[in-house]
Amino acid sequence: MSIATEKLAVDVEKIRKDFPILQREVNGYPLVYFDNAATSQTPQQVMDVIVDYYSNYNANIHRGVHSLSQEATDKYEAARKTIQKHFNAEKSYEIILTSGTTHGINLVASGFASLLKEGDEILVSALEHHSNIVPWQMICEKSGAKLKVIPMNEDGEIVYSEFENLLTEKTQIVFLNHVSNALGTVNPIKKIIDKAHSKGAAVLIDGAQAAPHIKADVQELDVDFYVASAHKMCGPTGVGMLYGKEEWLKKLPPYQGGGEMIATVTFEKTTYADLPHKFEAGTPNICGGIAFGAALDYMNAIGFDEIAAYEQELLKYATEELLKIEGVKLYGIAKEKTSVISFNIEGLHPYDIGTIVDKLGIAVRTGHHCAQPIMDFYKIPGTVRASFSFYNTKAEIDSFIEAVKKAKMMLS
Ligand SMILES: *Cc1c(COP(=O)(O)O)cnc(C)c1O
Repeated sequence: MSIATEKLAVDVEKIRKDFPILQREVNGYPLVYFDNAATSQTPQQVMDVIVDYYSNYNANIHRGVHSLSQEATDKYEAARKTIQKHFNAEKSYEIILTSGTTHGINLVASGFASLLKEGDEILVSALEHHSNIVPWQMICEKSGAKLKVIPMNEDGEIVYSEFENLLTEKTQIVFLNHVSNALGTVNPIKKIIDKAHSKGAAVLIDGAQAAPHIKADVQELDVDFYVASAHKMCGPTGVGMLYGKEEWLKKLPPYQGGGEMIATVTFEKTTYADLPHKFEAGTPNICGGIAFGAALDYMNAIGFDEIAAYEQELLKYATEELLKIEGVKLYGIAKEKTSVISFNIEGLHPYDIGTIVDKLGIAVRTGHHCAQPIMDFYKIPGTVRASFSFYNTKAEIDSFIEAVKKAKMMLS
């Protein structure tokens, strides 16, 4: 791959050629894709890997002695190593391939159900995606444990001093996202992990929204569990990763029963396979896993420092331009943010703004962004969310600003 970088920023014109979808028009206008926080677009390099898989070595893995099965198994396990290296896990079997972030969270939550007892406590933050709230509510109902919420402030940051107050010897696990998908807030996870460990609590970090922008080092963070989805970082849907410390993965019971996760089966007793297979029941998303590895290779070739620097430029520019429009209110103005802007215009419904800008070819998200408690905090039904990736440009932000102005004119 020949991706040139000029100083810190990325060579965006060259990168855009890797994404065929960016050439298309929507409603007669060039597509401006600003819904990257929901899912990212896929570069040709990753699509080529998918086509190669089905064209040349499609087979079930870990089972056959035949050559195709061997080839598929080798590529799948190589992808696991790529993921291991990317997140700097100590051992490759600490990486469980999942169907995505939601799957990873449910796997851990359901495992904890058997470890929790009446009176235990679980802490989640007020900034969570529904996929971080609902599984834990279900587990609390089953186990009698209590769910407590770390509050947020007006700027969209969690209140650290309240976290310290809520954390006690009863706390078994702390659960929060690395980056909020609704607001883009980057949470001080290292500080939270260290503090939680001082009281003996485990920490699960939802990295779905952080992983496309920040390279997390699970050993340096000393995190117990870290989850992410491939489709938010240039990979396909239906595949993701769960990192778990070996000691924790050994302690948790299997999530699903089936083929691939067993060592021996009789009707009297089944013994489970070693890690990571204990948590990988059934035929996995083989092609997806291999493509996930290719997506990480693609992004690493550009460089995460370069990506972050460029996206911060876009964020700064878009924020300044948007605030020039009268009546615009931003939600989530934390000091540390990824390239997400959540906003409303006084007197207008976010859905109406989203509909008009779509007519002009611009894809943004409107609504509660699967984070209803945040919307309740601000007492709003939802926001318009524009989220930028390293393949977006300042020119696209200009089109977006013009479209928002037009929407405001039409709706006022
Ligand atoms: C997208 C997202 C999820 C859910 O990810 P899936 O890929 O839909 O499982 C969870 N948490 C956050 C912060 C997200 O951004």
